[in-house]
Formats: sequence, structure tokens, C-alpha cells
Amino acid sequence: MELQKLIEKAETTHKLTKEELTLLLSSSEAEEHLAAAADRVRKKYVGDAVHLRGLIEFSSYCRRNCMYCGLRRDNEKAGRYRLSPDEIKALAEKAVGYGYHTVVLQSGEDMWYTTERLVPIIRFIKNLGAAVTLSIGERTREEYAELKKAGADRFLLRIETTDRALYEKLDPGMSYDERCRCLHDLKELGYEVGTGCLIGLPGQTVEALAEDILFFQEIDADMVGIGPLIPNPDTPLGDEPTGDMGITRRMVSLIRLLLPEANIPATTAMETLIPHKGREIILKSGANVVMPNVTEGEAREKYALYPGKACVSDTPAYCRTCMETRINAIGRFIGSDAGARKHRR
Ligand code: SAM
Ligand code: SF4
Repeated sequence: MELQKLIEKAETTHKLTKEELTLLLSSSEAEEHLAAAADRVRKKYVGDAVHLRGLIEFSSYCRRNCMYCGLRRDNEKAGRYRLSPDEIKALAEKAVGYGYHTVVLQSGEDMWYTTERLVPIIRFIKNLGAAVTLSIGERTREEYAELKKAGADRFLLRIETTDRALYEKLDPGMSYDERCRCLHDLKELGYEVGTGCLIGLPGQTVEALAEDILFFQEIDADMVGIGPLIPNPDTPLGDEPTGDMGITRRMVSLIRLLLPEANIPATTAMETLIPHKGREIILKSGANVVMPNVTEGEAREKYALYPGKACVSDTPAYCRTCMETRINAIGRFIGSDAGARKHRR
């Protein structure tokens, strides 16, 4: 089937086989057509609103050792910090003050932050009237249940890659089955579940990326956040090439075509690779969410997954205004509610 026919099939049926996905992902020729189709599907299913989520990076301590990440425990050059519960609450208040309807609490896997310490913070943010998204890594089912009971609405946990062998090689000490167990428990407990993958991992094939998309569809992901690998010189993957922005963009478009009502962010890693216009390009290729950083001061710099992270030297207040201007400039508007995942009737 020629490329245009395949794109039409994706746009009308929201289904493609692994082979068809692989073909489209491999074709730079298909890119603009894919983006246009994804933009139409985005408009039809989730509309023109761009939902902003205020991101608080509250701890850079991590017990894991993912080969790509600057926060890995063996990285002695990483600047470690942990915001106190009161500092997190103060940032959440500011996020709500900027008009964000969702607060995302993200960290390394920092076990100082037990459920007992997280529960009052979640309750506090819920009382401010915002939705709460957690992105704190792997926990037991019981812990996820406690956090849900406290009011957490959503959870982000990327599968990173569905290539099991590659996953276990790049995330040493972690198990692919355990990652899937977490995603499964989160879904069962009633969270809106976000997952996603890295693009450009050494040894990752285009077929594996096609499998990633089918996995997102299979688990009915409510949110899918993906991003190119940006090598960090202080990690074992420091000398690897940067993930390809073209493939990343085609991935975003195909995810929109196959999961029409999912929330899809234009992530910071994409903005980092194409400064000042990465977010717009991705918002016009199927995405509908942006996660402006509300972390302040030193912590903002120390949460260094990779070098050159976009917007690190901007203030949260500047980011808020900047995002609004940029979103309006592409004919879209900022969502006025928490932007929960929509469901087809
Ligand atoms: N620790 C939690 C976890 O791993 O789920 C949440 C925070 S973790 C820093 C968030 C995401 O950062 C990971 O899922 C990973 O995909 C991404 N990331 C880490 N290192 C990266 C790099 N060098 N380039 C691009 N993305 C990276
Ligand atoms: Fe820790 Fe998450 Fe980084 Fe892995 S990706 S080292 S779990 S912060």
C-alpha cells in the first residue's frame, strides 16, 4: 500500500499493523502528511485546547541506575537536592496561581518520600482545586493505592522501550515485568495512566518503536509522553548520538492517529533539540499538552537529566507568559479545565 493510503487508513480506522507502522516511521517523505493527518485527528477528538501542567521536580535523588539519565545513583557529578514538603506545597500554590489546573510531582526514585510524606502534599494540592499527577517511579501496589486514596489522579511511568532485553540492559537491576506490573496496577486502581518511550536508544530498532505504539494502544494509555534521547556525558550513554527529531515527530503523529483521544505532551526534550520552536512543531503534529516547569532556583538547574535542558534559566512566571503567547500564535488556546483524558462516546 502506498504511503498516502496507509495514512488514510490510520486516520479513519485508528489501526495499523506493526509492518505498516515500521514503514511510516522509516519514511521522512511521509512526515508532513502524517503531521497533517494527526493534526486533524487531534482537532476532531481533543480540540484546540492545549492543557498546561505545572511541573515540580521535587527531588533529584534516585535509587536507580538507568544508563541514560543524569540522576542515576552512580553519577557522582549530579547535584542532589530534595525539596521539603513545605517547599513543594509553596510551589504548588504558585502553580495554581499561574492558572495551571494540574500539578505534576516528579522526582528520581527517592524513597525518603514515603507514602506517609506524600499523602499530605497530595491532599494539600487537591484542596487547592488542582488535579495531581505523580511521576515518582516504581512503588508497590499498596503504595499506589494509598496515594490514589489521598487524591492523586494520574501517574506517569514510561515503559522507556518495549524491547525487553534492551530495557533490562539499559535499566540495570530493573525488570520489564515489574514495570508492566506497575502500569497494570495503576490502571486497575483507577489512575489515568501515562506512559511513553525514549527514541534513539542504542540498539533500538524502528520495529521496536512500532511495537511501542502498539503497546500504548493495547494498554489504552491515557497519556503518552515520548522524547528523543539526549546523551548526558556523565552517564554510560554519553557518547551515543542524539535521538532523531524526525522519527520523534513521526512517532508523535502516529501515536495521535492510533490513540485519538490520548493526552500527548510536547516534551522539554523536543524543545531542547529545536530551541524556541520544538513545542510548536510537535503541537502541530498531534500533541495537545505542555508541562511548564514551576521548579525554582538551584533545584531547577540540578534536575539535570541531560545537558542543555530547555528553559532552565527562565523563571516560572516567564514560562507561563511565554507559553501562552506561543500557543496563541499557532491559533490554539490554553485549556480552562484539568484536561482529563477524553473518551469516545
Ligand atoms: N524517576 C521517574 C521515572 O523514571 O519514571 C520519573 C523521572 S525520570 C527523570 C522521567 C523521564 O526522563 C524518564 O522516563 C526518561 O524517559 C527521561 N529521561 C531520562 N534521561 C533522559 C535523557 N538523557 N534524554 C531524554 N530523556 C531522558
Ligand atoms: Fe532514576 Fe527515573 Fe532517571 Fe531512571 S530515569 S535514573 S528511575 S530518575
